[in-house]
Amino acid sequence: MILFNPKEHNIKYSNDKDREMMQKVIDYFEEKGLKSIKKDWHEKVWNHDFVEFMKENQVLATLMTPAGYGAEDSRWDTYRNVMFAEVSAFYGITYWYTFQVSMLGLGPIWMGSNEEIKNKTAKLLQEGEVFAFGLSEKEHGADIYSSDMMLYPQADGTYKANGDKYYIGNGNEAAIVSTFAKFADSGEYVFFGVNSKHENYECVKNTVNEQNYVAEYVVHDYPITDADIMEKGPKAWDNMLNTINVCKFNLGWGALGLATHAFYEAINHAAYRNLYGKYVTDFPHVKKIFTDSYARLVAMKVFAERATDYMRAASEKDRRYLLFNPMVKMKVTREGERVVQDLWDVIAAKGFEAEPFFEIAAHETPMLPKLEGTVHVNMALIVKFMNNYLFNPGEFPEIGKIHDAVNDNFLFDQGPTSGLGKVQFHDYTKAYELVNTPNITIFKEQINAFKEFLIKATPDKNQAKDIDYLLNLGDLFCLIPYGQLILENKDHMGVSDDLLDQIFDFIIRDFSKYATDLMMKPSNSDKQRELAMAILRSPSVNQERFNKIWDEVYNLKDAYKMKDQD
Ligand SMILES: Cc1cc2nc3c(=O)[nH]c(=O)nc-3n(C[C@H](O)[C@H](O)[C@H](O)COP(=O)(O)OP(=O)(O)OC[C@H]3O[C@@H](n4cnc5c(N)ncnc54)[C@H](O)[C@@H]3O)c2cc1C
Repeated sequence: MILFNPKEHNIKYSNDKDREMMQKVIDYFEEKGLKSIKKDWHEKVWNHDFVEFMKENQVLATLMTPAGYGAEDSRWDTYRNVMFAEVSAFYGITYWYTFQVSMLGLGPIWMGSNEEIKNKTAKLLQEGEVFAFGLSEKEHGADIYSSDMMLYPQADGTYKANGDKYYIGNGNEAAIVSTFAKFADSGEYVFFGVNSKHENYECVKNTVNEQNYVAEYVVHDYPITDADIMEKGPKAWDNMLNTINVCKFNLGWGALGLATHAFYEAINHAAYRNLYGKYVTDFPHVKKIFTDSYARLVAMKVFAERATDYMRAASEKDRRYLLFNPMVKMKVTREGERVVQDLWDVIAAKGFEAEPFFEIAAHETPMLPKLEGTVHVNMALIVKFMNNYLFNPGEFPEIGKIHDAVNDNFLFDQGPTSGLGKVQFHDYTKAYELVNTPNITIFKEQINAFKEFLIKATPDKNQAKDIDYLLNLGDLFCLIPYGQLILENKDHMGVSDDLLDQIFDFIIRDFSKYATDLMMKPSNSDKQRELAMAILRSPSVNQERFNKIWDEVYNLKDAYKMKDQD
């Protein structure tokens, strides 16, 4: 069983202590029950009870205190963190979000050079506090260069902070809100911490009508000393981007949790709903949607799990994570959104009902692609890797599975965020050449046709500046590393050849769809249109394989439901 199922708690851990902690988290939610989860969600009750549970069990302190600053089993272990992200989101995005924005708030602290604030933070984590990341501003959105929160140097060597931040999760409760700003005199970047309970901190409102608290806050002459400053100058900027690099990885895992729970509910509902004397799961289009959704969910999981190895193996010489990470953020979240939407077409009215979990997934999944850089911003980033990935591979030692209980030190020392176009990757063809199921063979033809397009009908100068054109190329490109990491991880995750072929069935269809979009770009030359068309393929038809996967999917009815669920 590849998908997470709380009833089986089928996650692999490196040690029993981690399993025990995660089991407690699962038990917490299973005991809380669906009715209570839904009541809190409808009434938009902030998750004080879960934060209290995490304090009692030292969950955030264990997960997010790097080795050396906290208890013996505290370490920054990306694998353990993403497992928590998936499990918490399985029960609702609120629980995930409190962890997520705490992690964002902690990034600039642990990456900074201020040991005093690190030690203070480790203590606050043990005391059960949450944290926040104050980057976004109402007027500037993705344009973070224009941040206008200011730190004013005072004659006595201290500072006063003035300005406002918008869309800041946990801004209502955080013990430290890591705030990104500029020095008013020099214009240099700076990260400093403020306390949401300080009298000079005004939590203006919740900007969203949700259970999450996504604050607007204003600081009025907030007194700051060097003890509150995490970093100054260009490194403050790098730490801001590198923090997002670490944390946005959790977004795909959030989508996995939400969509997997929605999937169990949907199959349960459809398998027992009888219309015109037939079960809904007897409709051919419903079988198709479920089989596709299952293949997409498994692909999300297998890809994201493999990407975790690259996050953990990252080093100054191995920056491949810089491609796989935004893909977990952008591609996996969008796949999650799609799965939930497709399932919603099957369960139709049920998806609007107040009692099931599905309503939460339908409402919250679309949020994930839009946070921590929009889909476009992440895709624009990914496109920078395309040339080296496809045409200029490097040599790297083989990376195995990394589930060890070690601290991921490099993530706190990633260095400057520049030079993305120079990052190299191992030869992707190695993963593809080992497997030759019918659909993988077809997909390899498509990859070659796409490369032919890039070589023989290279986008001209104007097209290379046209973000719309680049985003389309990015959608095509993304599917190649997506398939590669799935292939690299299939044996470890236990993906059968039939399931693998079913996954590449949708990959071929998606690739053909993006190629059709490319073909229709108004700026294309005739040659570009012709070579874009040449990318189109249909997946191999194999009813027997489809039936096998459908049986696997259908057998998931009754696999999971919450104890107080009707
Ligand atoms: C629920 C929620 C929680 C959040 N939590 C936090 C938080 O805790 N801390 C925090 O600091 N922020 C937080 N944010 C803010 C979030 O990160 C921003 O929404 C995000 O940075 C994008 O800004 P924007 O939504 O204003 O989009 P805009 O910047 O207004 O973007 C408008 C459009 O321009 C496109 N665009 C912008 N720049 C580029 C580019 N370079 N290339 C291509 N396209 C581009 C975008 O894709 C989008 O389509 C949160 C937001 C929400 C909704």
